[in-house]
Amino acid sequence: MGLVSTILVRCKNSDCSRKDPIRLPDSTPEERTKRQLGIPILWHHSYLACPDCGAVFVFQPSECEWNQIRRDELQSILAGRVAVAALRPCGELGCESHIEIHTVVASGLTIPELYPIIRTWHFLYLTYCPSGHRLRTLPPESYEIRLLKY
Ligand SMILES: [Zn+2]
Ligand SMILES: [Zn+2]
Repeated sequence: MGLVSTILVRCKNSDCSRKDPIRLPDSTPEERTKRQLGIPILWHHSYLACPDCGAVFVFQPSECEWNQIRRDELQSILAGRVAVAALRPCGELGCESHIEIHTVVASGLTIPELYPIIRTWHFLYLTYCPSGHRLRTLPPESYEIRLLKY
């Protein structure tokens, strides 16, 4: 039973009642391959949506904990949830930045079933696109959803 590399991030919304950190996959399979080959990878887990309060915020590598865990332990912690990435454009006219928001959701949901969750997302103060535009709410249809592997 191999070890899985995960990261733990705490919600930055001070009104959130969530006590536990959010556990996300450390990197995508392509990135893991690159890392094994010694090719530098870009930090991409920078936006996170809290599954409890819907706050979306940026975090830095220094703000999360790395954690290796046995796969069977991970399955019991996740308890039927999966990690997803929601990709969207910045939304500001003329801006070409795309951002990728990571979160965990119940497994087996269809894309339209994720829309009510995305509608609860609100961007915390100081959440900007890489070009410096303040991020605003976009309709759920603007997001492209992709499953992330632990
Ligand atoms: Zn929260
Ligand atoms: Zn932008």
